[in-house]
Amino acid sequence: MNEQHDKQKLWEQLEGLADLAERRAEPSFRKIDRIAERNQWKVIEAFKRHQVSDFHFTGSTGYGYNDRGREILDLVYSDVMGAEAAIVRPHFVSGTHTISCALFGVLRPGDQLLYVTGKPYDTLHKVIGKPGDGKGSLQDWGVKYAEVPLLHDGGLDWEGIENAIRPETKVIGIQRSRGYDWRASFTVAEIGEIVARVKAIKPDVIVFVDNCYGEFTELEEPTQVGVDLMAGSLIKNPGGGLAETGGYIAGTAAAVEAAAFRLTAPGIGGEVGAMLGTLRPMYQGLFLAPHFVGQAVKGSVLAAALFEELGFETKPRWEDPRTDLIQAVRFGQADHLIAFVQGIQQAAAVDSHVVPEPWDMPGYENEVIMAAGTFIQGGSLELSADAPIREPYIAYMQGGLTYAHAKYGVLTALYRLVEKGLIVIKPYIT
Ligand SMILES: *Cc1c(COP(=O)(O)O)cnc(C)c1O
Repeated sequence: MNEQHDKQKLWEQLEGLADLAERRAEPSFRKIDRIAERNQWKVIEAFKRHQVSDFHFTGSTGYGYNDRGREILDLVYSDVMGAEAAIVRPHFVSGTHTISCALFGVLRPGDQLLYVTGKPYDTLHKVIGKPGDGKGSLQDWGVKYAEVPLLHDGGLDWEGIENAIRPETKVIGIQRSRGYDWRASFTVAEIGEIVARVKAIKPDVIVFVDNCYGEFTELEEPTQVGVDLMAGSLIKNPGGGLAETGGYIAGTAAAVEAAAFRLTAPGIGGEVGAMLGTLRPMYQGLFLAPHFVGQAVKGSVLAAALFEELGFETKPRWEDPRTDLIQAVRFGQADHLIAFVQGIQQAAAVDSHVVPEPWDMPGYENEVIMAAGTFIQGGSLELSADAPIREPYIAYMQGGLTYAHAKYGVLTALYRLVEKGLIVIKPYIT
C-alpha cells in the first residue's frame, strides 16, 4: 500500500465516522433548520415592514445627515431584536468597543455594574479596569464593579445574586455565551428568568446582555424577554459573514440613546455618522445571517458528536440545546489543542497554508492560538477556532458559513490529530 492510498483510506474512515454522527444528530439538525427558517422569516418581515429599497444601500459621506439607509437599518434591527431602538454602525470597531459604549453610556460614577454570570469575556477585563488605573476604564471613572461567580456546576448562584444587589446597582451584566470558559451558555429563557428575578428585587435596574455569538441561534433574542440593553458584533452572527466591520446595540430608547451619545458625542448620538459603502453588506448580511448561523450550529453539533465518540469531553454535548455558536472540546494536552486549531486553519479557503502558532494577543491574558482563515479578518461566523494556551487545554471552535465547510474543518482537524499520532481511530462498523 502506498502513502497516497493510506491517506485516502484514513480520510474515508473519518468520513464514515462523520456519517454515523450525522445520523445520530438528525433530530437536532431538523430543529436547527426550523429555527433558521423562523428567523429568516422574521428578518424578511422586518425588511418588508420598513420597505427596504435599493436606495437604502447607498451610504452617505461627511456628517451623514439624513442617511436613510442608516435610519432604516436601525429600525430593521430594532424589529428583529424585538427592541424599542437599535443603533447599527461600522464605527463600532469590535464587539468589545460596542459593549464598552453600551456600558459607559448608562453607568455613572458611584453606580455599580454587577455581572451575575461570573467573570466576563477576557477583553472586557480592561474595560472594567481597576480604580485609579489611569486608563479611563469604568472603575477608573469611579464606577463600582462586582461579579457573582457561577456555581461549580456552571449554574447561576441565585442566592449570591440576590445578596449582591445594592441600592447603587445600576446595571446587571449577563454574558450569554460561554466565551473562553468551560461553562454552559445561558439560554434566552434563562436570561428571562434572571430579568424577572433581579427586577423583582430592584425594578429600576438596567439588565445588559453581551449577546456575542448568540443571535439567531434561538427563536427569540434577549431583548424579547425583558433585557434593557444588548450588544453584539457584526463580524459574528448578525453580520452574516458579509458585514465588513461594526457592531449593534439594541434596547430601550433611553439606553440606546445613551450608548449613541457615548459612541459619537452627547447631543449628536445616532443622528450623524456616514455609512460610506457599508450598508449593502450590512443589510444583505442580516438577511443571510439566520441561514449561516444555522449552518454553523449544525457544524458545532457534528463536532461535538464526533469528538464525544472519540472519548473527548465537549460543551455543549451534541444533544444539548444551543444558544450560541461555540463548541468547546476539552483536549487536556497542549499539543492536541494546537494540532486541532492548526487543522481547522488547514481547512480554510483563505490562508490554508498558514500554520497558526500561540501568541500574545492584545486584550487577552494568556497566549492564544487562533485559526482564522477568513474572508473578514477575525470574522468568527466563518469557521474559526480559538484557544487560550492554559489548562485544561480547551479548544473553542465556531462558525462555518456552510455546513460542508464546518464538516471539512472538523475532519481535517481530526485527520491532523491522527496523522501526528495524537489520537487513534478504532475501526468502526456501519
Ligand atoms: C467576541 C466576544 C466579545 C468581544 O468581541 P470582539 O469583537 O472580539 O472585541 C465579547 N464577549 C463575547 C462573549 C464574545 O464572544
